[in-house]
Amino acid sequence: MTSGAERGRFAPSPSGRMHLGNLFTSLLAWLSAKASGGRVVLRIEDLDAGRCTRACGDQLEEDYRTLGLFWDEGGSAGGPGGPYYQSEREERYIAALETLREKGLVYPCFCTRAQLHAASAPHREDGQAIYPGACRDLTPDQAAERAKIRPPADRLRVPDREIAFEDGHLGPYAENLARDCGDFLLRRSDGLWAYQLAVVVDDAAMQVTQVVRGSDLLSSTPRQLYLYGLLGLTPPKFYHVPLLLSSDGRRLSKRDGDLSLDALLLRSTPEELIGKLAYLAGLNPSARPRTPESLLAEFDWERVPKKDLFVPLGLFF
Ligand code: GLU
Repeated sequence: MTSGAERGRFAPSPSGRMHLGNLFTSLLAWLSAKASGGRVVLRIEDLDAGRCTRACGDQLEEDYRTLGLFWDEGGSAGGPGGPYYQSEREERYIAALETLREKGLVYPCFCTRAQLHAASAPHREDGQAIYPGACRDLTPDQAAERAKIRPPADRLRVPDREIAFEDGHLGPYAENLARDCGDFLLRRSDGLWAYQLAVVVDDAAMQVTQVVRGSDLLSSTPRQLYLYGLLGLTPPKFYHVPLLLSSDGRRLSKRDGDLSLDALLLRSTPEELIGKLAYLAGLNPSARPRTPESLLAEFDWERVPKKDLFVPLGLFF
Protein backbone atom coordinates (compact mmCIF):
# COMPACT_ATOMS: atom_id res chain seq x y z
CA MET A 1 0.00 0.00 0.00
CA THR A 2 1.18 3.52 -0.72
CA SER A 3 2.07 5.48 2.37
CA GLY A 4 1.68 9.20 2.63
CA ALA A 5 -1.42 9.43 0.41
CA GLU A 6 -4.84 10.00 1.93
CA ARG A 7 -7.11 6.99 2.29
CA GLY A 8 -10.82 7.61 2.72
CA ARG A 9 -13.57 5.07 2.94
CA PHE A 10 -17.20 4.21 2.33
CA ALA A 11 -18.52 2.13 5.24
CA PRO A 12 -22.15 1.38 4.40
CA SER A 13 -24.37 -1.00 6.33
CA PRO A 14 -26.13 -3.17 3.77
CA SER A 15 -29.51 -3.15 5.46
CA GLY A 16 -31.46 -1.29 2.80
CA ARG A 17 -31.16 0.71 -0.36
CA MET A 18 -28.93 3.77 -0.37
CA HIS A 19 -30.87 6.94 0.43
CA LEU A 20 -30.27 10.63 0.06
CA GLY A 21 -28.41 10.99 3.37
CA ASN A 22 -25.95 8.15 2.62
CA LEU A 23 -25.45 9.55 -0.82
CA PHE A 24 -24.62 13.02 0.52
CA THR A 25 -22.06 11.62 2.97
CA SER A 26 -20.56 9.30 0.36
CA LEU A 27 -20.15 12.12 -2.13
CA LEU A 28 -18.27 14.21 0.45
CA ALA A 29 -16.14 11.23 1.52
CA TRP A 30 -15.22 10.56 -2.10
CA LEU A 31 -14.46 14.20 -2.89
CA SER A 32 -12.39 14.68 0.26
CA ALA A 33 -10.17 11.67 -0.47
CA LYS A 34 -9.92 12.16 -4.22
CA ALA A 35 -9.35 15.93 -4.15
CA SER A 36 -6.03 15.27 -2.47
CA GLY A 37 -5.13 12.47 -4.87
CA GLY A 38 -6.04 9.78 -2.34
CA ARG A 39 -7.82 6.44 -2.52
CA VAL A 40 -11.21 5.22 -1.36
CA VAL A 41 -11.74 1.89 0.38
CA LEU A 42 -15.15 0.21 0.46
CA ARG A 43 -15.85 -1.71 3.66
CA ILE A 44 -19.21 -3.39 4.03
CA GLU A 45 -20.44 -3.11 7.64
CA ASP A 46 -22.55 -6.25 7.72
CA LEU A 47 -22.04 -7.43 11.30
CA ASP A 48 -25.74 -7.55 12.03
CA ALA A 49 -26.63 -10.70 10.13
CA GLY A 50 -30.31 -10.25 10.97
CA ARG A 51 -30.49 -6.97 9.08
CA CYS A 52 -27.73 -7.15 6.47
CA THR A 53 -27.55 -9.24 3.31
CA ARG A 54 -24.93 -9.85 0.67
CA ALA A 55 -27.47 -8.97 -2.03
CA CYS A 56 -27.94 -5.59 -0.41
CA GLY A 57 -24.17 -5.09 -0.31
CA ASP A 58 -23.97 -5.90 -4.02
CA GLN A 59 -26.78 -3.42 -4.68
CA LEU A 60 -24.86 -0.70 -2.82
CA GLU A 61 -21.83 -1.36 -5.02
CA GLU A 62 -24.05 -1.03 -8.05
CA ASP A 63 -25.42 2.24 -6.69
CA TYR A 64 -21.94 3.71 -6.13
CA ARG A 65 -20.97 2.78 -9.69
CA THR A 66 -24.16 4.26 -11.14
CA LEU A 67 -23.39 7.54 -9.41
CA GLY A 68 -19.80 7.61 -10.59
CA LEU A 69 -18.44 7.16 -7.05
CA PHE A 70 -15.80 4.61 -7.97
CA TRP A 71 -13.68 3.19 -5.18
CA ASP A 72 -10.16 1.82 -5.38
CA GLU A 73 -10.23 -1.29 -3.23
CA GLY A 74 -12.61 -3.32 -1.14
CA GLY A 75 -16.08 -4.74 -1.32
CA SER A 76 -16.33 -7.52 -3.86
CA ALA A 77 -13.27 -6.10 -5.67
CA GLY A 78 -11.04 -7.18 -2.76
CA GLY A 79 -7.55 -5.84 -2.20
CA PRO A 80 -4.55 -6.06 0.13
CA GLY A 81 -6.44 -5.08 3.31
CA GLY A 82 -9.23 -7.62 2.94
CA PRO A 83 -11.55 -9.21 3.64
CA TYR A 84 -13.67 -6.08 3.32
CA TYR A 85 -16.88 -7.53 4.78
CA GLN A 86 -16.99 -7.12 8.55
CA SER A 87 -18.79 -10.45 8.85
CA GLU A 88 -15.53 -12.07 7.68
CA ARG A 89 -13.25 -10.20 10.08
CA GLU A 90 -14.24 -11.67 13.44
CA GLU A 91 -10.77 -12.96 14.36
CA ARG A 92 -9.47 -9.37 14.35
CA TYR A 93 -12.20 -8.29 16.78
CA ILE A 94 -11.46 -11.26 19.04
CA ALA A 95 -7.77 -10.30 19.10
CA ALA A 96 -8.59 -6.68 19.98
CA LEU A 97 -10.96 -7.80 22.74
CA GLU A 98 -8.21 -10.01 24.17
CA THR A 99 -5.74 -7.09 24.16
CA LEU A 100 -8.23 -5.00 26.11
CA ARG A 101 -9.00 -7.88 28.46
CA GLU A 102 -5.31 -8.33 29.23
CA LYS A 103 -5.25 -4.70 30.33
CA GLY A 104 -7.97 -5.54 32.88
CA LEU A 105 -10.41 -3.16 31.21
CA VAL A 106 -13.12 -5.59 30.07
CA TYR A 107 -15.78 -7.00 32.35
CA PRO A 108 -18.86 -9.17 31.85
CA CYS A 109 -22.17 -7.33 32.00
CA PHE A 110 -25.44 -9.11 32.73
CA CYS A 111 -27.78 -6.15 32.56
CA THR A 112 -30.91 -6.64 30.49
CA ARG A 113 -32.07 -4.18 27.89
CA ALA A 114 -34.94 -3.21 30.18
CA GLN A 115 -32.53 -2.45 33.05
CA LEU A 116 -30.29 -0.40 30.78
CA HIS A 117 -33.09 1.71 29.42
CA ALA A 118 -35.04 2.15 32.65
CA ALA A 119 -36.36 5.67 33.03
CA SER A 120 -34.39 5.97 36.25
CA ALA A 121 -31.08 5.38 34.42
CA PRO A 122 -29.10 8.51 33.55
CA HIS A 123 -29.40 9.62 29.93
CA ARG A 124 -27.26 11.84 27.77
CA GLU A 125 -28.59 14.78 25.81
CA ASP A 126 -29.16 12.72 22.68
CA GLY A 127 -31.37 10.33 24.65
CA GLN A 128 -28.86 7.47 24.90
CA ALA A 129 -28.65 5.79 28.28
CA ILE A 130 -25.42 6.28 30.23
CA TYR A 131 -24.30 2.97 31.69
CA PRO A 132 -24.49 3.38 35.48
CA GLY A 133 -21.88 0.70 36.20
CA ALA A 134 -24.12 -1.95 37.75
CA CYS A 135 -21.81 -4.84 36.75
CA ARG A 136 -18.52 -2.96 37.04
CA ASP A 137 -17.46 -4.33 40.39
CA LEU A 138 -18.90 -7.86 40.42
CA THR A 139 -16.57 -10.39 42.04
CA PRO A 140 -15.51 -13.38 39.89
CA ASP A 141 -17.86 -15.56 41.97
CA GLN A 142 -20.81 -13.24 41.44
CA ALA A 143 -20.10 -13.13 37.70
CA ALA A 144 -19.87 -16.94 37.53
CA GLU A 145 -23.22 -17.26 39.33
CA ARG A 146 -24.92 -14.85 36.93
CA ALA A 147 -23.37 -16.50 33.89
CA LYS A 148 -25.35 -19.64 34.77
CA ILE A 149 -28.54 -17.72 34.06
CA ARG A 150 -27.62 -15.48 31.17
CA PRO A 151 -24.62 -15.10 28.86
CA PRO A 152 -22.80 -11.81 29.51
CA ALA A 153 -21.99 -8.95 27.21
CA ASP A 154 -18.44 -7.54 27.29
CA ARG A 155 -18.12 -3.98 28.47
CA LEU A 156 -15.10 -1.62 28.51
CA ARG A 157 -14.15 0.50 31.51
CA VAL A 158 -13.80 4.15 30.62
CA PRO A 159 -11.69 6.81 32.34
CA ASP A 160 -12.93 9.87 34.19
CA ARG A 161 -11.08 12.29 31.94
CA GLU A 162 -11.84 14.38 28.93
CA ILE A 163 -11.08 13.03 25.46
CA ALA A 164 -10.80 15.93 23.04
CA PHE A 165 -10.14 16.13 19.33
CA GLU A 166 -10.29 18.58 16.48
CA ASP A 167 -12.86 17.60 13.87
CA GLY A 168 -11.62 18.51 10.41
CA HIS A 169 -14.95 20.12 9.61
CA LEU A 170 -16.75 20.93 12.86
CA GLY A 171 -13.79 21.98 15.00
CA PRO A 172 -13.09 21.05 18.64
CA TYR A 173 -15.19 18.40 20.38
CA ALA A 174 -14.68 16.69 23.73
CA GLU A 175 -16.38 14.25 26.05
CA ASN A 176 -15.62 12.87 29.46
CA LEU A 177 -16.47 9.23 28.85
CA ALA A 178 -17.24 8.42 32.48
CA ARG A 179 -19.68 11.32 32.75
CA ASP A 180 -21.10 11.49 29.23
CA CYS A 181 -21.18 7.87 28.14
CA GLY A 182 -20.27 5.32 30.80
CA ASP A 183 -18.55 1.98 30.24
CA PHE A 184 -19.55 0.89 26.75
CA LEU A 185 -20.20 -2.38 24.96
CA LEU A 186 -17.61 -4.23 22.93
CA ARG A 187 -19.71 -7.32 22.29
CA ARG A 188 -23.36 -7.95 23.00
CA SER A 189 -24.56 -10.96 24.98
CA ASP A 190 -25.75 -12.57 21.73
CA GLY A 191 -22.21 -12.29 20.32
CA LEU A 192 -22.82 -9.31 18.04
CA TRP A 193 -19.67 -7.14 17.87
CA ALA A 194 -20.17 -3.52 18.76
CA TYR A 195 -19.80 -0.96 16.01
CA GLN A 196 -17.31 1.04 18.13
CA LEU A 197 -14.81 -1.79 18.33
CA ALA A 198 -15.19 -3.06 14.77
CA VAL A 199 -14.91 0.36 13.15
CA VAL A 200 -11.66 1.16 14.99
CA VAL A 201 -10.05 -2.20 14.28
CA ASP A 202 -11.00 -2.01 10.61
CA ASP A 203 -10.21 1.63 9.87
CA ALA A 204 -6.77 1.08 11.40
CA ALA A 205 -6.15 -2.24 9.60
CA MET A 206 -7.24 -0.70 6.28
CA GLN A 207 -4.91 2.27 6.91
CA VAL A 208 -7.73 4.77 6.60
CA THR A 209 -6.38 8.28 7.15
CA GLN A 210 -9.66 10.21 6.94
CA VAL A 211 -13.15 9.27 8.13
CA VAL A 212 -15.99 11.31 6.63
CA ARG A 213 -19.39 10.48 8.09
CA GLY A 214 -22.65 11.92 9.38
CA SER A 215 -22.56 14.20 12.42
CA ASP A 216 -24.79 11.71 14.26
CA LEU A 217 -21.51 9.82 14.83
CA LEU A 218 -19.60 12.80 16.22
CA SER A 219 -20.30 11.68 19.77
CA SER A 220 -18.96 8.18 19.01
CA THR A 221 -15.56 9.61 18.17
CA PRO A 222 -14.20 10.06 21.73
CA ARG A 223 -15.02 6.41 22.43
CA GLN A 224 -13.23 5.42 19.26
CA LEU A 225 -10.21 7.60 20.11
CA TYR A 226 -10.04 5.93 23.51
CA LEU A 227 -9.96 2.54 21.75
CA TYR A 228 -7.28 3.71 19.30
CA GLY A 229 -5.12 4.67 22.27
CA LEU A 230 -5.64 1.42 24.17
CA LEU A 231 -4.94 -0.69 21.10
CA GLY A 232 -1.83 1.31 20.19
CA LEU A 233 -3.29 2.34 16.81
CA THR A 234 -2.99 5.62 14.94
CA PRO A 235 -6.36 7.38 14.57
CA PRO A 236 -7.48 8.92 11.28
CA LYS A 237 -8.61 12.51 10.88
CA PHE A 238 -12.39 12.83 11.36
CA TYR A 239 -14.75 15.01 9.31
CA HIS A 240 -18.39 15.00 10.42
CA VAL A 241 -20.87 16.27 7.88
CA PRO A 242 -24.32 17.79 8.36
CA LEU A 243 -27.36 15.54 8.38
CA LEU A 244 -30.14 16.03 5.86
CA LEU A 245 -33.46 16.85 7.48
CA SER A 246 -37.00 16.77 6.16
CA SER A 247 -39.06 19.95 6.44
CA ASP A 248 -40.50 18.81 9.80
CA GLY A 249 -36.97 18.60 11.20
CA ARG A 250 -36.65 14.81 11.18
CA ARG A 251 -33.46 13.25 10.00
CA LEU A 252 -33.92 11.58 6.62
CA SER A 253 -33.45 7.85 7.01
CA LYS A 254 -34.03 4.54 5.34
CA ARG A 255 -37.61 4.77 6.51
CA ASP A 256 -38.17 7.60 4.06
CA GLY A 257 -38.61 5.14 1.24
CA ASP A 258 -39.43 7.84 -1.27
CA LEU A 259 -35.92 9.18 -0.86
CA SER A 260 -34.23 5.87 -1.59
CA LEU A 261 -32.02 5.80 -4.63
CA ASP A 262 -34.33 3.73 -6.80
CA ALA A 263 -37.12 6.29 -6.30
CA LEU A 264 -34.74 9.20 -6.84
CA LEU A 265 -33.39 7.71 -10.06
CA LEU A 266 -36.91 7.53 -11.49
CA ARG A 267 -36.95 11.33 -11.48
CA SER A 268 -33.31 12.38 -11.87
CA THR A 269 -30.30 11.12 -13.77
CA PRO A 270 -27.23 10.25 -11.67
CA GLU A 271 -25.59 13.51 -12.75
CA GLU A 272 -28.67 15.52 -11.83
CA LEU A 273 -28.63 13.89 -8.39
CA ILE A 274 -24.94 14.58 -7.85
CA GLY A 275 -25.44 18.18 -8.99
CA LYS A 276 -28.31 18.72 -6.55
CA LEU A 277 -26.42 17.18 -3.63
CA ALA A 278 -23.32 19.21 -4.48
CA TYR A 279 -25.54 22.32 -4.48
CA LEU A 280 -26.76 21.44 -0.96
CA ALA A 281 -23.13 20.88 0.02
CA GLY A 282 -22.13 24.37 -1.16
CA LEU A 283 -19.98 22.92 -3.92
CA ASN A 284 -22.12 23.68 -6.96
CA PRO A 285 -23.29 27.26 -7.60
CA SER A 286 -26.64 26.01 -8.89
CA ALA A 287 -28.39 22.64 -8.92
CA ARG A 288 -27.18 21.94 -12.44
CA PRO A 289 -26.01 18.38 -13.25
CA ARG A 290 -22.43 17.51 -12.36
CA THR A 291 -20.22 14.45 -12.34
CA PRO A 292 -18.26 13.77 -9.15
CA GLU A 293 -15.00 14.33 -11.07
CA SER A 294 -16.11 17.77 -12.21
CA LEU A 295 -16.40 18.85 -8.56
CA LEU A 296 -12.88 17.84 -7.58
CA ALA A 297 -11.01 20.97 -8.62
CA GLU A 298 -13.14 23.26 -6.44
CA PHE A 299 -13.67 20.94 -3.50
CA ASP A 300 -13.02 22.75 -0.24
CA TRP A 301 -14.28 21.82 3.23
CA GLU A 302 -14.65 25.55 3.94
CA ARG A 303 -17.57 25.70 1.53
CA VAL A 304 -19.51 22.83 3.11
CA PRO A 305 -22.17 23.92 5.65
CA LYS A 306 -21.68 22.86 9.25
CA LYS A 307 -25.30 22.89 10.39
CA ASP A 308 -27.80 20.18 9.50
CA LEU A 309 -29.60 20.92 6.25
CA PHE A 310 -33.29 21.10 5.52
CA VAL A 311 -33.80 19.44 2.16
CA PRO A 312 -36.21 21.26 -0.12
CA LEU A 313 -37.92 18.13 -1.39
CA GLY A 314 -39.05 20.00 -4.49
CA LEU A 315 -35.41 19.85 -5.53
CA PHE A 316 -35.66 16.10 -5.95
CA PHE A 317 -39.29 15.57 -6.99
N1 GLU B 1 -21.86 1.76 8.90
C1 GLU B 1 -22.21 3.05 9.39
C2 GLU B 1 -23.46 3.55 8.68
O1 GLU B 1 -23.79 3.07 7.62
C3 GLU B 1 -21.11 4.07 9.18
C4 GLU B 1 -20.12 4.05 10.26
C5 GLU B 1 -18.99 5.05 10.11
O2 GLU B 1 -18.92 5.75 9.09
O3 GLU B 1 -18.13 5.10 11.01
O4 GLU B 1 -24.10 4.42 9.21
